[in-house]
Amino acid sequence: MGGRRVKIFLWIACECLWCSAARRPIIDGVKHETPGQKWDRLKNQVQEGILNGYPNPQRDGCPGADAIHALAVRSANIDDETIEGDPQWQHVTHCSPCYGEYLEQFDRARAGKHTSTVK
Ligand SMILES: [Zn+2]
Ligand SMILES: [Zn+2]
Repeated sequence: MGGRRVKIFLWIACECLWCSAARRPIIDGVKHETPGQKWDRLKNQVQEGILNGYPNPQRDGCPGADAIHALAVRSANIDDETIEGDPQWQHVTHCSPCYGEYLEQFDRARAGKHTSTVK
């Protein structure tokens, strides 16, 4: 089942226009989609939106590479819903350059998950 992975997008709990739009497909759903197809669709939709929607050339308020890495590890390895209320997570999901870094770190964290004993 893809339930756990889809939860990543439910972590985007803010009420701005983009976040509301990003949540809508999860609620509406598309009945004939497999969890994998839904994951791909949501992932592309959300990632494209965040990567293009929040340019931040001055990197105002960016928490830095260490914080982004910590968030990536948390979201990849731990079923941790408290990340939703984390101000740094809120920033990363509303900042295109930070989100790009986060995605890289997230892929790396997930790739390393199978060889890691981190719960
Ligand atoms: Zn938002
Ligand atoms: Zn940032």
